[in-house]
Order: sequence, then structure tokens, then C-alpha cells
Amino acid sequence: MPTLDTFRPEPGNLPARDDIPARYTWDLSAICPDWNAWQEHYAALDAAITAFVKFQGTLASGADAMLTAFTAMDEMGALSYRVWYYASLHYDEDQRNNEINARRQQVQILFARQQQASSWFNPELLAIPLNTIRGWMEQSAALAVYRFAIESLFHEQEHVLDEKGERLLSYSGRFNSVPYDSYSALTTADMKFPEITLSTGERVTLTYGQYRALLETNRRQEDRAAAYRAFHQAYADSQNTYASLYNGVLQRDWFHARARGYASTLDAALHGNNIPTSVVENLISVAKQSVEPLRRYHRLRRRVLGLERYRLFDIFVPLVEHAATYPYDDVGSWITDSVGPLGREYQARVQEAFAGRWIDVFENAGKRSGAYSAPVYGSHPYMLLNYNETLDAVFTLAHEMGHSMHTLLSHQAQPFVYAGYTIFVAEVPSTLNEALFLDYMLDRAGSREQRAVLLQHAIDSIASTFYTQVMFADFELQAHRLVEQDKPVTADVLNGIYARLLGDYYGDVIDEEPVSRLTWARIPHFFSTPYYVYQYATCFASTARLMQDIRSTDRGRSGDAVERYLSLLKAGGSDYPMNLLARAGVDLSQPDTVRAVADELGMLVGKLENELITPP
Ligand SMILES: [Zn+2]
Repeated sequence: MPTLDTFRPEPGNLPARDDIPARYTWDLSAICPDWNAWQEHYAALDAAITAFVKFQGTLASGADAMLTAFTAMDEMGALSYRVWYYASLHYDEDQRNNEINARRQQVQILFARQQQASSWFNPELLAIPLNTIRGWMEQSAALAVYRFAIESLFHEQEHVLDEKGERLLSYSGRFNSVPYDSYSALTTADMKFPEITLSTGERVTLTYGQYRALLETNRRQEDRAAAYRAFHQAYADSQNTYASLYNGVLQRDWFHARARGYASTLDAALHGNNIPTSVVENLISVAKQSVEPLRRYHRLRRRVLGLERYRLFDIFVPLVEHAATYPYDDVGSWITDSVGPLGREYQARVQEAFAGRWIDVFENAGKRSGAYSAPVYGSHPYMLLNYNETLDAVFTLAHEMGHSMHTLLSHQAQPFVYAGYTIFVAEVPSTLNEALFLDYMLDRAGSREQRAVLLQHAIDSIASTFYTQVMFADFELQAHRLVEQDKPVTADVLNGIYARLLGDYYGDVIDEEPVSRLTWARIPHFFSTPYYVYQYATCFASTARLMQDIRSTDRGRSGDAVERYLSLLKAGGSDYPMNLLARAGVDLSQPDTVRAVADELGMLVGKLENELITPP
């Protein structure tokens, strides 16, 4: 009900937190009623950590002793969620608050102690033969709850070395981060950001933020070209240094893989989640065969933008100018309605998130930037936004709501030990909520402009989250294989791989631009977290596959799909991601699953062509 306290932010005017009506702020009392209660929880956690030491040396004495230790560990874990999030969410409300920052740091210190106090647990458990523990689990149903946790610990153990070997490897920990730390210093602290003069005569310093904003908003191709070339030239000028640092990353990964007895760096990266390498290989090869809808989109862009030459700096600028705003008071009911296909119960939970003040909506002075969903075990998830009424902001809200519902269902259905979930499945519910929201908005869009804006948003997100991430995974795999095959890694070699990839994906629909081959040097993920980004692409494929069934007009088929999907959310982290997805009907080793994304893109591009080039 829009009442007197309806609030909309004024552009350029950052409010103080106290000026924002309470109903647009989150209510953290579900975590702790107040700071006194927090202090009590903190003391309880402190005591639990101290007490945990007494379980050391007991695990081998039988099922009951092991269960007691596991239970104590879970209680400690559950408590640490409350203690951490109450302080950390309050801190994010206004990061200038030193008093709360101090409490937050106090928790971090406690966590370090918790880690030390429980570091004996895994080695002691792993010293017991797995068959003995299996026997205990046969007898004790309560211990059998921990079966997957125990079995996966032994699975990880397959590549753990003896004590001497582990000690030697731990010494290398000190320089593992040197390539990325150097990269980081080179691209931030030591970076000389180029300056350019725009066609208007304005001088601009190209920080990364400025550069992105220019490519996304500047309607003059010559300005975009100047920004792109200057920005990439800064990397070109140090390309041999970047290549040498990246070689450091590749050599380190190969060193660790070989030291632990893996056949390849990819095997080493996928072993923890028990994902077969064929998943990544299938993803790359099918995506490469399915580039036609991507190329069709770029042909459409070239035509609509009226560009004779169309290059990588032309791919971000919007096709239609449409300055719609989306007041927060309107979008809550839209998002709630959009999840209708997932059933009444799911919908009621989304409604509760809006009504129960789980969301901190607007920006205020000192508030943390960005958006997230915080999985607070023992209460309910909380969402932080910096809602600014743009279409991006609405989709971000739909996205975070997907994470929150995943958390809620998993926390309700699973015991503590499996309440969390891995990144490999985490981006399925968030992107699936976005897909549902897109369908809902497209159905209701009143004009061609509105539909075109929505379609472009969805298409760009497939292009950047699926195709670009697969191309990145492809690059990482090819680069790692160089060192695995004792081949040299130089700037020329890396530029060559990247240039070929651009050809594989875009063919001749994007005109060549010499500095584009240096793109690899400006992707921080390559240097910080190798073999990570492909997971966004597999999540996209899983979502596209699920949506094919959920959208089906055959009620039996869509009903089944919704059931399977909700079971996936409720399953949390209770099994390996491939098994969880398989039960939901998604097989990522199958070409069809990956092709679902291309089909979806083809459908969306077809609709966009209708809006933009077919006469009304
Ligand atoms: Zn996300």
C-alpha cells in the first residue's frame, strides 16, 4: 500500500541512512534481537570453540563418539552464521562505523581460532579406514546423515600426499599468489591509465569504470574506438610482462597438478566437485558449434546501428534509447507474480521476503556498493541492494531473490552439514528467476521499445555470461595445455590463441581490430581464479534446459520439471553437483543441454528482429 512513507531516491543526492523509511531497510532482529543478544551468542561461540578440543582423540572409538563430535562441529558452525552476519550486515549499512567494524573484526579473529581448534578433525577422521566408518554408519542412522560429507572427504584425500610431501607443498603456499599479486599491482597501483580526447573536445582518463561506461553509452563510434584502442594499448605496452606473469600461473597450476598426481590441470581443478573433464570439453565444443545465433545478433546490431565497420567496441551500446524507470514500490508485485510458474508455496515465500523486510533497498551514505544475498543459517536470507530504478536493478533484484529462495529451501530441508551449496549450482536459481521475470515482462510490455530493451538485456546477458565465459574457458584450457605439453608461453603465442578464438566465435560478423588479441591480458579471472568462470556457463546451460520444460504448454511436463527443480533447491549441498543436476533432469555431459542456450538465444534474437526491422 503506497502510503506517506513512499520513498524514491533523488538522483545525485545520497541520503543519510536515517532518512530512509524503515520499510525499505532490512530488519536484522531475526538474526539477533539486539547487540546484547549478539554478545551472548559471541560468548557461546567462544565457549564452544574452547570446548571442541576435548573431542580430539575420540573419533576412532566408535559411532557414538564420532556423531557427538560431528554434532558439536555443526552447533559451532550454526552459531558462527549468526555471530558473523549480525555484525557484517550491520557493518554494510554504513561502513564508516568504526565501532561495528571492530566487532566484525573481532568475529574474524574468533574464526581464525575456530579453524585452529578444529584443524585436527579431518586428519583424525581420515586416519580411520573408510570401511570401518561405513560399518558404523550401517548401525547408526544419525551418523549415516554424514555419509556424503565423509565419503567426499575421502574422495579429496585420494590426492593428498604423505606428511613430508604435504609439508613441502605447504612451503610453496608463500609464492602461489605472486603472479596474481604482481598482476594486481601492475593493473591498479602501477597502472598509468591512458587519457583521450573525445570528439566533443572533452578529456577523459580511462579507468576501467570510465572505459566501460564510455563503450556502453557513447553513441559516436570514433569515441568508442579511441577509448578501446587506448585502453588496450596500455596492456599491449607491457604484453611481455603480462605473458610472463600468466606463464607463472600456468606453471604453478601444472606443478600442483603433477605433485598431487593428476593427469592434467583441468583434472585437478574439477576433482573436488567430482566433475568429469568431459563436461568442460563438451561445453566448449558445443558452444563453438552453436555460434550462429550469436553471429545473427551481431549482424542485426550492425544493421540497426547503421555501421559500415562493426568492431568489438560497438557491441555494448544500446540499440534503442528508452529511459524507463522502475519504482521499487511497483516491482515487488511483478517479481512475485513472475515466479507463479514455480507454484503457490514458492510465491508465498517471495512475498514474505518483500513484506518481512529481508531486503535493504536503497543506497545511503556509507553503505556497501553492489548487491548480494546473505545465507544466514538459523534465520532467513537477507538481500542487500543499491536499487536505482534501472532495468538492471530490477533484474539484479530478481537474481538475488533466486539465490535467497535457494538458501531458504535448502536451509529448511537439509541438516546443517549440507545447508550450503557450491557455485556450480548456485547460479541456476538466480538466472532461472531472471528468465521467469523476462517472460513476465515481455508479456506485459506495451510498446516495441519496451520489448526491444527487455530482449536486448536478455540477449546481452547470454552473450556475456555464456559465450564470453565459454570462450574464456577455452582460452584457459588451451593455455594450460601449452605447459602440460612443454611448449613455450610467450605474448605472441597467447595473442595467437586469442585471435583464433575471436575468429571461431564471431567469424566475419565482427571486423578485425588488431589490439583485440590482447584481451587476455586484461581479464583478472585468468590470473586470480583459473578454471572458474566456466561454471557461470554451465549454470546458464542448466537453466536454459530447465526452462524448456518449465515453459512447456504440456502441463504434465512443466509440472514435473517444477517438482524436479524445487527438489534441486531443497537438496542444497547434499551430493555432488552433477548428481543433483542429473536428478533435476539436467545432464551437462550431453550436447543437447548446452545447445539449449543457443536455442534460447536464437528465439530471443528472432523476437528482437521482429521488433526492430519488421514494419509494425
Ligand atoms: Zn549470483
